[in-house]
Formats: sequence, C-alpha cells, structure tokens
Amino acid sequence: MSDTFRRILSSFLCVQLNFLGTTLEVCAAKQATLAPARSEFSTAAEAKEPTPLRRLLQKPYVELFDLAPSVEFTAKEIESQRKALEEGKDFCVARFKDHAKRYAKEIDSAQKDLKAQTIKLNEVQRRQVHCRIQNLELLRSEAQALSSHAIPTAYDNLNAKLDLLQKWPALYKQTQQEIASGTYLNRRWGDVKDIGFREIAANQQDDIKKGQQAIEEMKRSGLLPPEVEDKSIQEYVNSVAQRIAQKSDLKIPLHVSVLQSREINAFALPGGYLFIERGLLEAADDESELAGVLAHEMAHDAARHANKLMKKATIAGIFYQAAQVAAMILTGGVAGIGTYYALQYGFYGLGFVLNLNLLGVSRDYEMEADQLGVQYAWNSGYDPSGFIRFFDKIATREGYVNGASWFRTHPPFYQRMVNTRREIMFLPAKQDLIVQTSAFEQMKKELAPIAAAANKEQMGRPSLKVTREQGCEPPTKLEYKPGQPIEALCSAPARTVNGAAH
Ligand SMILES: [Zn+2]
Repeated sequence: MSDTFRRILSSFLCVQLNFLGTTLEVCAAKQATLAPARSEFSTAAEAKEPTPLRRLLQKPYVELFDLAPSVEFTAKEIESQRKALEEGKDFCVARFKDHAKRYAKEIDSAQKDLKAQTIKLNEVQRRQVHCRIQNLELLRSEAQALSSHAIPTAYDNLNAKLDLLQKWPALYKQTQQEIASGTYLNRRWGDVKDIGFREIAANQQDDIKKGQQAIEEMKRSGLLPPEVEDKSIQEYVNSVAQRIAQKSDLKIPLHVSVLQSREINAFALPGGYLFIERGLLEAADDESELAGVLAHEMAHDAARHANKLMKKATIAGIFYQAAQVAAMILTGGVAGIGTYYALQYGFYGLGFVLNLNLLGVSRDYEMEADQLGVQYAWNSGYDPSGFIRFFDKIATREGYVNGASWFRTHPPFYQRMVNTRREIMFLPAKQDLIVQTSAFEQMKKELAPIAAAANKEQMGRPSLKVTREQGCEPPTKLEYKPGQPIEALCSAPARTVNGAAH
C-alpha cells in the first residue's frame, strides 16, 4: 500500500470523548499518524439502569390499558420520566445528526484527496476509494433517516405510553360512568346499530374518478409497485376486505390489491381503492389485526377525508411533485445513492412519496378513521382490539427501524390510542369475535416463500441501481433486535467503513 493511499484511508479517524457527560466525536481529519480509537464510551442514557416506569413503557398498549388503573406513579416520577425521554430524544437525534455530519466531512475529504491523488492511484486503489465514498454515503443516509424519522417516532411512542399511564386511570373511570349513565350514546357516530344506513359523508361516488386518475398517475410515474402474483393471496385479502365493506358505511364498490413491496403499509386512494403492501401482511399475526387496518383505511374513503383535504389540489398537481421525488428515489438519480438505506428501512418508499392530502391524512381524520374502523371491524364480527394490537406491534417492535412507512401516515399518539380504546368499550358486547382463522394462517404459509424470494432478489441486487461502484461490500445494517429499547440504538457505537471491495 502506498503512503499516499494509506493516508487517504486513514485520515478520517474519529475519537469519541466524554465531555461533561456528553459524548463528543472529534474527527481528526488529515492527521498524519493514527490516533488511538476508543471503542468504549458511555452516555447518560446508557449509564442509568432503566427505572421501573421506563421498563413499563416497553410493554404493549393493550397491556398498559389493563395495568394503568392499578399501577401508581407519583406526579414527580411521571414528570422526571418525561424529562428523561425529552433529554434522551434530544441526545439521540443530536448523536445521529453528528454521525451524518461526520460522514459528510469524511466524504468531502475523501473526494478532495481523490482529486489530488488521482494520477497516482492504480485501479484497485481507486476502486477502494470509490467504495469508501459510496459506503460513507450509505451511512450518512442511514443516520439522516434515523435522526429525522425513526428516532423521533420511537420517542413519540414512549411519550404516548407515558401519557396513558398518567391519564388513563381517571379516564377509565369516566368512561365507565358514561356507559352506566348512557351518555356514551351521544358521542359522534355513536349510532353503531345503524352502520350502513347512516350517512358519514354524502356523494362517495364522486371520488371514484379521482381515485382512478391517481392510480393512472402512479402507474405512469412508476410509483405503483406490481401486484403480488398469487391469486389465492389476492383473493384472501379481498375476501376479508369485502366482508368488512359489507358491514361498513362504504356505499361504493371496493377494489383491493396486494402490492409486491416490503413496506409495512396500507393505504386507500379516494373512491374505494385499497392497497396493501406485502410487508403489512408479513407483519400481521392474525386476521383481526389485518381486519383492523383494512377497516381503518376503508373508513377514510367512507368519510371522504381525501376529498375534504384536496379541495383545491388536482391529481396532476399532486403527482407532479410526487413524481419528481419518486424519479430520484426509484431510478437512482442524484438522490439515489443517498437514499439507499432509507429505502431499505422503508423510510422513502411509497408511503413517503404519497401525498398526505390524497390519503386523507390529518390528525383529526386519523382519529375519525380509527373510530369508524374499529366500528366496522366489530360490526363484521372481528375482535376490534386487533387494530390496537397491530398498531402497538409496529410502534414497539418494528417502528423505529424497520417499518416506519406506516407511521408517516399513522403517527402514534396518546389521543388516538385512548379514543380507540374508549370506542371499543362503548361497542355493544358480542360473542365469538374473530381473532384468528385458518384462512389467514394458510395465507401466511403461501406468503412466506413469496416474501423470501422477493427479499432475496432485492439482496442479490441491493438496489444497485443506486450505487455507482459495483461490488463494494456495503456496511452492515444497524443491529436491531425486536423489543430492544430505543436507548440501545442511541448508544450504539458509530460505524466506520473500510472501503473493501469483493
Ligand atoms: Zn389513516
């Protein structure tokens, strides 16, 4: 290895210093000799054992609703936990922003050196430097995606659970009183015995054309993933959706497609067009969870949420912007390489590109769709708590690293969870609510090899459309174990790349 080359590879070493309780990463760019890298470090978050309260926040919402009335924490304990979460989030976001900045600096230096040394490098060395730059870009994109999407979402979810522990006991009592006195019947859409005969929003049929236009635009701009080529999976999901639609307030035909995409996502375009991405089927564990999501999406169409948000916008206008973003992300344009990891994690997939107005997404409409959705799931014979269980699983187990796309359109917050839980309490008791079916289990069996094949194909061609130098060993994805608290991610050591090529 030539001295020059050694210098290019070794000139971006960073050390982590513990300064006044905060970890600082100091990068000694252009340094001639190797500085000793310290691998051990400590952070405020890591040093502390999690408190019993913090440990509780790792539990699912469904369990917390049951536990909250019996566990008692003082206002002081709650407040100090809230502060700790706030600090934890700031620390974690800042840390990943720093990582991103540091990678950017390293890229910059590597490019400068490359330019200066270009004549002296042989082909192998040049490729190594290219790989190094490419991998640094991947790491930078990952750090950016985590700091701007995944980490805040994970902390929002913990805060929602803390709110639940704090406020649910009193609200639970109030809910019981509302049921005892009969006042619960006066709530919005409290007329659940008239589902299908009441009017949530007039003229649903007026949205059909908009939905069709949107689908055409999506196809044109390459935004719509292909359908899963398995008739029985399509038929199964369709049958569950139609069963719910029959018992909902949707008065227009419902069209259902399962898309070949690993995103954990489902969405309804206006006018009764329901799309389920394959990743969502993989993430669901029983039919009532799937039913909960389908019912929620259907509710957006029944209530014509998109129409209310799109008053002035046209489909063409909405898609002009989406198509620009999509072209860069999906075809590996300028933004391509930088979004590789974000794509891998589902941050910039279809869920990211779709316009929120087109999906009818707003805080109020989400809550309305939650309410109507659990009503439809219940009315068609499903256990309505399937929706909360699914939401919870995505938030707690997958949300912050794997399946963030659903959270872009369905942010976790306390009011949603609590309103949904209250609605479930208000629904008249029913016997034999469906949780699991053999048809669902059969679908999962058929899905497994399809998902495996699709993922393998993606691995073999690691979206290398977005990478320029072929055959570089990409940096490993962040280690993440289901159920791991976010703090583990925050305190994970920064990764480095070596620029090795196979
Ligand atoms: Zn929604």
